[in-house]
Amino acid sequence: LLLNADQTPTWSGTLPQNPPSTSSANGMQGPFSQKLFLGGIPYELSEGRVTEQIFTRENKGHSDLLYELHNFGRCTVRWPKTEGAGSVRPGFCHVIYQDARSTVELLRRCTHQNQEYFWHVQIRRSSLVVGNKIKPNHVKMIQVVPWCITDNLCVIRYPNDDDSVLTKDWSRTIFLSALHGKMTAYSLALIMTDVFGAVSFVQINTDKFLYPTGTATVLFRDSHSYIRAVSTGSIYIKCDYFQKIHEIYPYLRENEECFSCSNSAIYFCRNNHCLRSYCKQCWIKKHGLRPLVDHQPITRKQKK
Ligand SMILES: [Zn+2]
Ligand SMILES: [Zn+2]
Repeated sequence: LLLNADQTPTWSGTLPQNPPSTSSANGMQGPFSQKLFLGGIPYELSEGRVTEQIFTRENKGHSDLLYELHNFGRCTVRWPKTEGAGSVRPGFCHVIYQDARSTVELLRRCTHQNQEYFWHVQIRRSSLVVGNKIKPNHVKMIQVVPWCITDNLCVIRYPNDDDSVLTKDWSRTIFLSALHGKMTAYSLALIMTDVFGAVSFVQINTDKFLYPTGTATVLFRDSHSYIRAVSTGSIYIKCDYFQKIHEIYPYLRENEECFSCSNSAIYFCRNNHCLRSYCKQCWIKKHGLRPLVDHQPITRKQKK
């Protein structure tokens, strides 16, 4: 276990890749979510609007993103929030197809190299009128990042494990935030096992499209590993795709009872000697009005 200067445990290496799946065909893993990410969208391509032409596939004579995406099925586009009016259109967005088969259709039209997909979009003539000059048609590449929904869950059974290690036990469960889009349940399970100890399952939390929301729930195999993770409070992950600190929280249920009374708990103390949830009054009783620096209250994190 490596600790950097501020005592945050560090994991560094190549992000563990899932073992090759038997369902893999043509380099494509699956099944995919109907929601996907597009990056590097060229500025020549306007957002586009929903019009009849999109559904009748009438040639509009110019290129826009929505029209091009509808080659593969009906969809909506979600742009990130921008800084007020007049700001530049972002170069990335999420696309939500009505049917996950459209994701596969789009991926089939992409070139595929080193686990990355590139969609070649032809920018048509009339999009490119600059002054009086008409530029010839040209092709731009957009990166397509699909999400494989089997990457949402990873269950690890050790020899002699019975079903009880897999039951949802909140006293062995942590919650991780700010996950990178490349992090699968399998990668996270391996990293957490390396750093804190054996993990029984990891679930990447998702929206209704089974697409990650950036948080994960981790169930440790035993309470020692759980205590190590919770009392450390964070993990620094440094890999080929990103390097960042991830906060670790105990999984506080809604309506969790206070350790000392029957009120509902709102604070958790992650100090090794406490590791308990308390209501406000009992927190003060236990810690005093001005708690020691290493007994700071943390509040509940919701699942999403
Ligand atoms: Zn209480
Ligand atoms: Zn405490």
